[in-house]
Amino acid sequence: MNILMLGAPGSGKGSQSELIVKDFGLVQISTGDLLRQAVANQTKEGILANSYMSKGELVPDELVLGLLSIRMNKPDSKNGVIFDGFPRNVKQAEMLDKILAEDGKKIDIVINIGSPFDVLKERLMARRLCDKCGKGYNMISNPPKGKNCDCGGDIITRSDDNDGVIKNRLEVYLNSTKPLIEYYTKKGVLADIDGNRKIPVIYGDIKELITKAGNR
Ligand code: AMP
Repeated sequence: MNILMLGAPGSGKGSQSELIVKDFGLVQISTGDLLRQAVANQTKEGILANSYMSKGELVPDELVLGLLSIRMNKPDSKNGVIFDGFPRNVKQAEMLDKILAEDGKKIDIVINIGSPFDVLKERLMARRLCDKCGKGYNMISNPPKGKNCDCGGDIITRSDDNDGVIKNRLEVYLNSTKPLIEYYTKKGVLADIDGNRKIPVIYGDIKELITKAGNR
């Protein structure tokens, strides 16, 4: 089964994907994570990607597709993938359809998580993560127990979670990513989820949708 998580930055795609992984045994592939890894490793791709990411712009399709293809070729993704943060535009969606079709696969369900932009901005400003294990926190709704993460790592703010860059990321979502709602609605695979609720409540609905899609 292949699942796609759609939604603006801060909508909760990553948090929900982590819960899906636990219940359904699929792998989560986040192009944001793949790109941040390349940036951290200072690879040629990472250095180029960073010049876009630091401004909240989309990284060129070919670069993202290159990293994604390498990840999808690993054996653990053969049973099914949760695509988190990919595709970000219609061209990427068409490319993904092509890659999956070559293996006789398709996207089975698209979970579109919606929230008002003022809520998203507030969430992104309060978002933190552990620099060691990657665990996500929110200083308002889910703060760390102490100064550090449970694993001992430092709690950090993502460099693109700042006011100016957040504004641009939401603009980019409206212009490039939102058209995917129509793209997947036409294919009959899109399910809308109200993301302005507590994480476990949202997940309850998502779990039901995925279970139903799996029985189709
Ligand atoms: P994310 O972690 O999904 O919020 O992504 C962080 C940043 O990585 C985005 O603001 C983009 O600059 C870049 N990025 C992530 N996924 C993609 C993608 N599929 N296409 C282009 N750029 C991406």
